[in-house]
Amino acid sequence: MNTQWGSCQATSQSCLIDGFNTSDPAPSDPPNVCEQGSVSPFYIDVQCASDVQNAFAFSKKTGVPLVVKNTGHDYKGRSSTPGSLALWTHNLQSLSYNASFVPAGCPASHAKPGVTMGAGSIITNIVAFAEANNITLVTGAETTVGASGGWVMGGGHGALSNTLGLGVDRVLEFKIVTPTGRFLTANECQNSDLFWALRGGGGGTFGVVLESTTLASPKMTLQVAFAAFSRTNTNATRGFYEVVVDNSVRWAEQGFGGYIEPFQALYVTPKLNSSEAAATMQPLFDYVSALAPNDTGVQILSVELPSYGAFFTNFIAGSGAPVGENAVVASRLIPAANFADAAGRAALVAALLQTLAHASFDLSLLATTPYNVPDAGSARTSVTPAWRGAVWHAIAEGGWDGAAPVDAERAAYNGTSGAADYLRAITPDAAYQNEADVHEPNHEVSFWGSNYARLLQIKKKYDPENVLTCWHCVGYDPQSPRFSCYV
Ligand SMILES: Cc1cc2nc3c(=O)[nH]c(=O)nc-3n(C[C@H](O)[C@H](O)[C@H](O)COP(=O)(O)OP(=O)(O)OC[C@H]3O[C@@H](n4cnc5c(N)ncnc54)[C@H](O)[C@@H]3O)c2cc1C
Repeated sequence: MNTQWGSCQATSQSCLIDGFNTSDPAPSDPPNVCEQGSVSPFYIDVQCASDVQNAFAFSKKTGVPLVVKNTGHDYKGRSSTPGSLALWTHNLQSLSYNASFVPAGCPASHAKPGVTMGAGSIITNIVAFAEANNITLVTGAETTVGASGGWVMGGGHGALSNTLGLGVDRVLEFKIVTPTGRFLTANECQNSDLFWALRGGGGGTFGVVLESTTLASPKMTLQVAFAAFSRTNTNATRGFYEVVVDNSVRWAEQGFGGYIEPFQALYVTPKLNSSEAAATMQPLFDYVSALAPNDTGVQILSVELPSYGAFFTNFIAGSGAPVGENAVVASRLIPAANFADAAGRAALVAALLQTLAHASFDLSLLATTPYNVPDAGSARTSVTPAWRGAVWHAIAEGGWDGAAPVDAERAAYNGTSGAADYLRAITPDAAYQNEADVHEPNHEVSFWGSNYARLLQIKKKYDPENVLTCWHCVGYDPQSPRFSCYV
């Protein structure tokens, strides 16, 4: 997805593709060369637990490094390793719904509606499956992200997370092969320490997940609000940010989740009726409507939809991310405290404008935090507790085109990280591990906060030889040769 992780950035070995037409072989035709880069030269197309058990035994005998790859969407290169054997879980695509799923080993009183999905299931299929079964599942915004792999183990946010929680809040059970070769079921009644670690400790760390079961909610009516102006109308961005910052805590309390770009905001809530939703969004609509005389790109919409599937199809699915770009992100969780008083809000708007000015691609403000879903004392999940009080997950994005000298690549990482520094300066140390700065300072605190020490203990219990190690993962070993391609 992000081609720098197919390249070996440190040596510039790559096999470039054209992001606009990925079938076009021209970018890697002579005189260009197509090199292996960081893409694993061998893959196991995982079908069952014994495939994974045999791979762990093989790696132990030969020393060949293993890497787990699902969709290959990872922003931090955690699913590609030079010279490795890849365990590819993409073809584990099964989906089933059980209206009274009981986690194995739990009493019948634990029954809840659940969808069991193979590790390779992707979001677009899950949304369609939920729609067909009259249920609601929390998903991320990109159709092709793997919902049962890295997305969920790293946290998993989506437009409904405000009221329904993160992906990790909703998991009922994992089936996993651990690096010592054990095929385990992890839920709240057995292997509960591993279950907790898998709910936020990150992918590629504790074993290879074959399937997960997630809580299904009833189908729900949603109120959607959308406002946009021309992307080129950058003079309007400050005022737009001011309106959004002034109102965001109220909207979060009212169940709104959504996505804010410098020129548009898309919000959705299951908690209000249509007139309540339109009324509370009025400040946003007023601001954007007032731009209309001079801006032909103005759009305002307030609509009721019958389901999350309808919302996803109409507002999310069409905006799919480009494949084959060299994208670099750096992110920050923005707590409610930053919105509490006028001085804080002014400082936040100033920091957003600075971040936007310094991020070479974009700044996205994601109202996808579990604002109304507590997890006191991190009893259920191991993501950083900072997710709970956060209003936004803000992502600065930069990158470069095609092949670039190593120095230019390093500059893109530094530049995007520097853009996020404006937000770092005014927020506590917390970021989303799946969409974080590759060189996140103090990453253990930032991704897991007070949960890191316990995660490390569990890592040592289930993977005592650190067979599965990935960049800035729990138990990360910076000296490992598998990181030789990072710049
Ligand atoms: C365009 C785009 C949009 C995104 N939108 C969202 C969003 O809306 N919400 C959100 O929360 N995140 C989003 N993400 C981030 C996403 O959560 C991460 O990229 C995540 O790592 C993807 O997981 P994957 O399994 O699909 O990818 P992969 O790159 O295949 O894997 C990611 C990590 O998980 C591990 N892993 C994968 N499968 C398994 C398995 N079966 N067992 C054990 N470990 C495994 C890998 O080893 C690697 O460490 C987005 C990413 C992109 C590129």
